[in-house]
Amino acid sequence: VPAADDLVGTWDVRPNPHPASDAEREGVLAAPGFGKRFSDHMAHAVWTPDKGWHDFRIEAYGPLSLDPAGAVLHYGQETFEGLKAYRHEDGSIWTFRPTYNAARLNHSNRRLAIPELEHEAFIGSLVNLVRQDAAWVPNAPGSSLYLRPFIFASEAFLGVRAAERYEYLAVASPSGAYFTNGFQPIDVWVEREFHRAGPGGMGDAKTGGNYASSLLPKTIAHEGGYDEVMFLDAATDTNIDELGGMNVFVVMSDGSIRTPKLTGNILAGCTRSSILQLLRDDGADVREETLALADVLAGIESGAVAEMFACGTAAVITSIGSLSGKDFRVEIPGNKVTRTIYDRITGIQLGKVEDRHGWLYRL
Ligand code: PMP
Repeated sequence: VPAADDLVGTWDVRPNPHPASDAEREGVLAAPGFGKRFSDHMAHAVWTPDKGWHDFRIEAYGPLSLDPAGAVLHYGQETFEGLKAYRHEDGSIWTFRPTYNAARLNHSNRRLAIPELEHEAFIGSLVNLVRQDAAWVPNAPGSSLYLRPFIFASEAFLGVRAAERYEYLAVASPSGAYFTNGFQPIDVWVEREFHRAGPGGMGDAKTGGNYASSLLPKTIAHEGGYDEVMFLDAATDTNIDELGGMNVFVVMSDGSIRTPKLTGNILAGCTRSSILQLLRDDGADVREETLALADVLAGIESGAVAEMFACGTAAVITSIGSLSGKDFRVEIPGNKVTRTIYDRITGIQLGKVEDRHGWLYRL
């Protein structure tokens, strides 16, 4: 993929005639929260069978007009991505492994029978959007501009088949540090009744349906006082898959590190992939393998399991402090290795630790 400077102008920028005032924007950046406020612009392109992807525009952020028969509203044909733009100390703005997200979007697109988007168009949308809205990239520690590219079927047609019109959009939302009071471990509910995905389903695609299926168990878990839900493999109901929006790692007391192997049900996280690479660079004993819940619980009881953590773009890394189910609760006290990995990944993202794999991309 070309450098950002070479992608400037590949999207037609139409400045928002009514951008937020400086005071309004500063107010949002002072307390951004997550996913509630959006920058002044968005990227927008259209796909039709005759033209493919076209009309690449950066335009004013605002409501869309959608026909009530728009296919996505009925059959959920949509895919999305999530990545962040970080401001370095010198003011420059960077993102992390955007080609990973570009490739994963197309992996999801194939599963959902959505036309693929060229990597250059994907990254070009982010470059042109973030350059237009650079003032929206916060610089407080741990904060970033969260980027949400997505595609949905917009054809007005009620038949069940792949649609013949799609919209690509990318929106940007200032986000604060995920942890407002330090590195807080989460309490995880292990879900036995509901699954988020099954064999041959869409588990390894980033599509709304997978999140829709996770909402009821998540709601119930929240009511029970738990922070997140851990889903098990639907085929066996005994093996750990992932959380609703994060991958899972187990740190053993002997120093080895394990994570569930990609079965097709699990989303291949960019953070997961980066952690595996960094650990392998160190020569650590890392294994992608089947992780039976019973073995992990026994390991926690015996002390063979020292730490567990979850990882994803939004929170980077979250220490798992406890696992609970209908008939068990175990506490996992440690987080030493987890913190080291957290510091390393965030250090690379913020330009403070050497980026040996060329993961940073200057926007
Ligand atoms: N699993 C699921 C189901 C997710 O939604 C996410 C977030 N994209 C992840 C794992 C972590 O992926 P990443 O590290 O690319 O954010």
